[in-house]
Amino acid sequence: MRLVLLGPPGAGKGTQAGVLCKNYSLMHLSTGDLLREAVKNNTPEGVQANSYMDKGELVPDEIVAGMITEKLKKEDVNAGFILDGFPRTKNQAEILEAALNELRLPLDMVVYFDTSEETILKRLTGRRICRACGKIFHITNIPPKKEGVCDACGGELYQRNDDKEETIKNRIEVYNKQTSNLIDYYQQKKILNKASGDLGVDELFAVLKNTFERSGLI
Ligand code: ADP
Ligand code: ZN
Repeated sequence: MRLVLLGPPGAGKGTQAGVLCKNYSLMHLSTGDLLREAVKNNTPEGVQANSYMDKGELVPDEIVAGMITEKLKKEDVNAGFILDGFPRTKNQAEILEAALNELRLPLDMVVYFDTSEETILKRLTGRRICRACGKIFHITNIPPKKEGVCDACGGELYQRNDDKEETIKNRIEVYNKQTSNLIDYYQQKKILNKASGDLGVDELFAVLKNTFERSGLI
């Protein structure tokens, strides 16, 4: 199964991608995670990307598209993959389509997480991430057993730089201006499916499982 998760920041794409990958043995490809890793390792791409990310702006297409196409070529994605946070512009969508056509791995479905502003703000301000393994928590929705400590690996939980109130506003604006028109783009390609990003993790998984069954993907 080859999927794209589309939706505003805070829609729960990363969390749900984790659940789906585990259940269906898919490869999780998140440009946000790849970029944060590059920043942490001080790679040339990371150094360039850092200032955009801190402001909540999009990192230039060449950088993210290069990272993703390299991963798609290098990793074993034959069992399927989930793209989370990519594409985010029409240009990225076109680069992706060309790369997947070349690999003969066209997309099966794009899931759009339709999410209210209230949910978005609550999710982003309460989000905490494990510094060691990247697992996502939320101070009230998905609290760790012990405050500030990752259930999975014991690592330290932290708040992302761009999850601060001022940056969140800009990220939502950037999404509305540069990414939300991909909903129409994929609707025209007849592969768009809408699901509510306001649902809880397990409820949403149940909805998606049903959608995949009806579409013959599982
Ligand atoms: P969220 O979906 O919660 O905004 P991500 O982890 O997907 O978080 O992205 C964090 C930041 O990384 C974005 O604000 C942006 O600066 C950068 N980024 C991630 N994916 C892309 C992309 N496809 N194109 C450009 N920038 C990206
Ligand atoms: Zn961890």
